Amino acid sequence: SPIPDYLQSVLEKARPIEEGAPAGYIDVLARADTSRLAVALAMVDGNIYSAGDDELEFSMQSISKAFVYAIAIEDAGLKAVLDKIGMEPSGDAFNRLSLQKDSNRPFNPLINAGAITAHSLVVAPDATVEQRTERILNALSRLAERELHIDEEVFEAEWKDANRNMGIGYMLKAAGIITCNPAEAVRGYIRQCSINVTVKDLAMMASVLCNSGVHPISGERIMPAESARQVLSVMATCGMYDGSGEWLATVGFSAKSGVSGAIMGALPGQVGIAAFSPKLDERGNSLRSVDICKQLSADMGLHLMNSS
Ligand code: GLN
Repeated sequence: SPIPDYLQSVLEKARPIEEGAPAGYIDVLARADTSRLAVALAMVDGNIYSAGDDELEFSMQSISKAFVYAIAIEDAGLKAVLDKIGMEPSGDAFNRLSLQKDSNRPFNPLINAGAITAHSLVVAPDATVEQRTERILNALSRLAERELHIDEEVFEAEWKDANRNMGIGYMLKAAGIITCNPAEAVRGYIRQCSINVTVKDLAMMASVLCNSGVHPISGERIMPAESARQVLSVMATCGMYDGSGEWLATVGFSAKSGVSGAIMGALPGQVGIAAFSPKLDERGNSLRSVDICKQLSADMGLHLMNSS
């Protein structure tokens, strides 16, 4: 059939890209099979197409940040979230210890400082790691329409050497941005990053954002339309870290990358996109996944700023 054949040809064009390296700082990810390659599209009418290693599970890593932002908005309210987390691109690496000058807020919810803050707003400021983890797993499982799990091996690998994220946690506490125990906020954040998905899950999860928060398959409203719009907006400006400006100009749809090698893309009203391959560029974006998104955007005319 034409669409899976097309997706297979996209993968074959990306496959020769051999540069980059898997994330080195989480040993389980450093040992990833770098030949793995997958792509999926989930249309807002509920149709899903995929090719390559589309059943392979990998940890969401930073892609979880987009959805946990939506959950924080639901649990704490948009105003409380905006009081604590800005929505400006930082221009810095994802794990930078940085806060905005006057407000002391993290720049945005998609760098670690903002994501740890968003995590701390899930359920309630005094909730336990277990309560927050359960809330996030349940919400993400509804988006994926199957029960998702934490990859405990990935979690342990990152948690045993989490000094930089701990530093960010204590910086947030000192600045009065988080009120809970910083180590617990970081532990919960790393658990959230260790949730396993496939490209089909990710494309479907993105399609809910593209469909104003209504699940294209179940028809259920998962989040208010305003939350979906807020998430897609920060993804457009901040989703690819310090490569976000170039990404919007060249690929042209909202996206979020993760250090396991995945990119989740979203074109409002049209399609959720996911690509996966482990080798990353120096910013932490998968080189083959970037290439796949570029091909899809060019071939299917997915650039948001196209006027025809
Ligand atoms: N768990 C990772 C971290 O905090 C997520 C980073 C990422 O995917 N960019 O370092």
